[in-house]
Amino acid sequence: FKIPAIENEPMRSYAPGSVERKALEAALTQMEHELPFEVPCIVNGKEVKTGKIAKQPMPHDHARHLCAYHEADKATVASAIEGSLAAKAEWESMPWNDRAAIFLKAADLVAGKYRYKLMAATILGQGKNAWQAEIDAAAELADFLRFGVKFVEELYTQQPSKNAPGAWNRVEYRALEGFVLAVSPFNFTAIGGNLPGTPALVGNVVVWKPSPAATYSNYIIHQIFTEAGVPPGVIQFTPGPPAEVVAQAINNPNFAALHFTGSTFIFKKLWKDISVNLDVYKGYPRIVGETGGKNFHLVHKSAEIRNAVIQTVRGAFEYQGMWFYFSPPKCSALSRLYVSTSVWNAGFKDQLLSEIAKIKVGTPLDFGNFMGPVIGRPAYDKITGYIEKAKAAGGEVLIGGTGDDSKGYFIQPTVILSKDPKSVTLVEEIFGPVITVFLYEDENYEQTLDIIDSTTDYALTGAIFAAERKALLTATNRLRNAAGNVYYNEKCTGAVVGQQPFGGARASGTNDKAGSISIFYRFVSARSIKENF
Ligand code: GLU
Repeated sequence: FKIPAIENEPMRSYAPGSVERKALEAALTQMEHELPFEVPCIVNGKEVKTGKIAKQPMPHDHARHLCAYHEADKATVASAIEGSLAAKAEWESMPWNDRAAIFLKAADLVAGKYRYKLMAATILGQGKNAWQAEIDAAAELADFLRFGVKFVEELYTQQPSKNAPGAWNRVEYRALEGFVLAVSPFNFTAIGGNLPGTPALVGNVVVWKPSPAATYSNYIIHQIFTEAGVPPGVIQFTPGPPAEVVAQAINNPNFAALHFTGSTFIFKKLWKDISVNLDVYKGYPRIVGETGGKNFHLVHKSAEIRNAVIQTVRGAFEYQGMWFYFSPPKCSALSRLYVSTSVWNAGFKDQLLSEIAKIKVGTPLDFGNFMGPVIGRPAYDKITGYIEKAKAAGGEVLIGGTGDDSKGYFIQPTVILSKDPKSVTLVEEIFGPVITVFLYEDENYEQTLDIIDSTTDYALTGAIFAAERKALLTATNRLRNAAGNVYYNEKCTGAVVGQQPFGGARASGTNDKAGSISIFYRFVSARSIKENF
């Protein structure tokens, strides 16, 4: 039994008049017609309606909501944990090829039957435009599932190469003892599927708390898992008040691991809460988190200006590919821009501002809009608040700086010029369509590397633009710990599963690299078996 060769899911164009465009439009119309949906918890394969209702508003039209969901209450979380433990023995001892088949089928359902429904839920619920939704909810999610199966096959073949005469050594990669808690974010539907999917693939049982702002798309993923054959109890779907669901799970003696994507603040808090419980647990829990970013582009005097400008606009405001303008932020999105003064004056500034001036912001239902809304009220207030703080501190707004929250949470793509390398918008994570520029004199390239390295606590992604190889190498060496993903002459976003393992260190996470084999080691506990003949 060998897993078939895996390719990245091809992306569709959604060009006007294309078959996929029509199919997506039909899915959107149908979803708009049927909403709001009612979303239950799913525990042991059964719907649980707690009656504790919360709503997922649509960020482009916040008076309406996409779904009303039943928040998991104490009894529901308790039965989710208990039920997952009851489902564990059968799931972890299921032959590997059967678990693989289930997840390969789930990938095909994502890329096929459910593609447009999942995209529509991502567009309406998380404010992404069609192309962002395609790369996230269709392509990346299918990639996570398919490549995951391939990585696990590779993991299981990692065996000792030495056997003493008359003996045979082998290593068994067991699932963790207990249950895994997956806490997923709003900004990628794909991550919603990946956080429970990765541990489940290697035989773990998972209690999954999705982001309130991604409840509906994540619920569809849960339905896909079920249709693909994930047995009842293996992945429990328990949306709910984050603090309560999560606290109940990490206070349980059978808590074995946290698989988290979200804010640095919450991740640190959970880590502290987990540490307090160490005597309660059976073992040392695995803690895996991808958290914030304060990602940089560094433009050297030798950089090719046009490319650096286009990549900068894309890295900050777009997702991937010509049309994939990005509005709900990615952890990886560009936030700090360090440009040589000579390049800035030689056309970089003018081209940057004129490219940004072309970006249209508005409802993602109009395919002509390249940027949609930010996710919600707190995000809107936080981002516009940062723009005001930057202004008050002497930052100059070169373009954008305004928002309109009357119908949806729209913020114009914004560029702030700051003379102070430690200004607040160069240091703190904003998580919105705002970049801050710091100009440096050409001869200060190396000092600028130190500034980049020491300005923030984050270390997720970065890009270096230079035609001179020496400039690339100097920066790569000096910024050794400043980013987990580095790009030469290309934007700092858009890691592809199986191509660029993704994740950062420092305050950006445990750097266990989503989209690679590394992450799977965190969710297994190896057992060595020696047999004498
Ligand atoms: N993997 C994505 C990228 O490279 C970002 C994921 C995230 O924002 O969490 O752009």
